[in-house]
Amino acid sequence: MARVYNFSAGPAMLPEPVLSRARDEMLEWRGSGMCVAEMSHRGKEFMSIAAQAEADLRELLAVPTNYKVLFLQGGASTQFAAIPMNLLRGAASADYLNTGSWSKKAIAEARRYGQVHVAASTEAERFTRAPRQDELTLSADAAYVHYTPNETIEGVEFPYVPDVGDKPLVADLSSTILSRPIDVSRFGLIYAGAQKNIGPAGLVIVIVREDLLGQTLPGTPTMLDYKVQAENDSMYNTPPTYAWYLAGLVFEWLKGIGGLQAMGEINARKAELLYKTIDDSGFFKNPVEPASRSWMNVPFTLANPELDDTFIKEAKAANLTTLKGHRSVGGMRASIYNAMPQEGVEALVGFMQEFERKHG
Ligand code: PLP
Repeated sequence: MARVYNFSAGPAMLPEPVLSRARDEMLEWRGSGMCVAEMSHRGKEFMSIAAQAEADLRELLAVPTNYKVLFLQGGASTQFAAIPMNLLRGAASADYLNTGSWSKKAIAEARRYGQVHVAASTEAERFTRAPRQDELTLSADAAYVHYTPNETIEGVEFPYVPDVGDKPLVADLSSTILSRPIDVSRFGLIYAGAQKNIGPAGLVIVIVREDLLGQTLPGTPTMLDYKVQAENDSMYNTPPTYAWYLAGLVFEWLKGIGGLQAMGEINARKAELLYKTIDDSGFFKNPVEPASRSWMNVPFTLANPELDDTFIKEAKAANLTTLKGHRSVGGMRASIYNAMPQEGVEALVGFMQEFERKHG
C-alpha cells in the first residue's frame, strides 16, 4: 500500500527522508553493531546522538546560551504540573490565558498547586480568536504568565507574542514549535510534546531560562525538577532514547531544507491554500477569526453535517486520512504540520473541491 497523507493532530506524519534514514540505520547504527534503541544511554554513541540533537535544536531556534534544553518524558500534560511546581517560586499565583481546550487543561492542573488568575478568556466566543494584547489583565504579583500560542483543537493561533513586562512568559508550543522562527529570548519557558513537529510520541522538550531553576515547591518529584534534569543532561533516569534519536533526524532534516525561515515560508503557503479553498467555497466553513487562524491545525465544517461520514469515507479512499475533527468540536480538522508536504495539501484541496461539486 502507498503511504497516505495523514492529517492527524498527533502523533503526526514524519518527514519521509527521516523515516528512510531510520530504516537504513535500524539494524546497525554507523558501525556500532546495534540499533539505537539497543544502546546504553550513557555510552559514547548515544551521548553523541543526544548532544548533536541538542546542538541542532539550539541552532534551529537560535536558543540563547542562558537557556537549558531538556529532553523529558510524560508529554506536555506532565508539564502542566511541572510548570507551577518549578516556577511559582514562593508566589501565590500565576496568570493564565484561557484560549481553548489545552489552556483549559493547563489551568485546571495549575490550580492543584497555586492560585490561577485568568488574565484573558475567549471562552464566551467559543474560542474562535486569540485575545488582543490590550485585553490582557495581568496581575502585579503573578509568578509567571502561561499561554498556548496554538490551540490544536480549536485551530486558534496567537498572531503575536504577548508583552508581559518582566514576568516570565511560559508557552505551550506543542503544536507550533519549529513551524517558523521564534525569538526564544521573549520566553521564560517553552515546552512542546514531540508528536507533532518534533518526532514520535514519548518525548517532550523544555527550553527554560537558567535563572528560573532551583526553587521548586516542597514535594516536587525529583523527575519534575528542571534543575535536577538540567544538571543530569536530561539523563537522571533512562531517557526516551529512540524518540530522542528520531527527533535529532528531524532537526537535521529541517536544517537541510534551509531551517525555520524556509519551513515557515512553506507552511504559510500550505495554510493559505487551504484557508482560501475553504473561504472561496459555499460549502466549507472555518469558524476562526482570520487573524487568529492556525497555520498547523485547520478545523472546518461541511454545510450539511449529515455528509460528514461520507466525507471521511471518500477522503480515506483517496488516501487522505485522519480528517475527523476532535470529538469536542466535531466537523473536520486537517493538521498540516511541517512533515505534510505541499502536495498533500493540494491533494486535500482538490478532493474538497470535487466533493463540493458532487454533494454541494
Ligand atoms: N498542549 C497542546 C497544545 C497539545 O496539542 C497537546 C496534545 O495534543 C497537549 C498539550 C498534550 O500533549 P501530551 O499528549 O504530550 O501530554
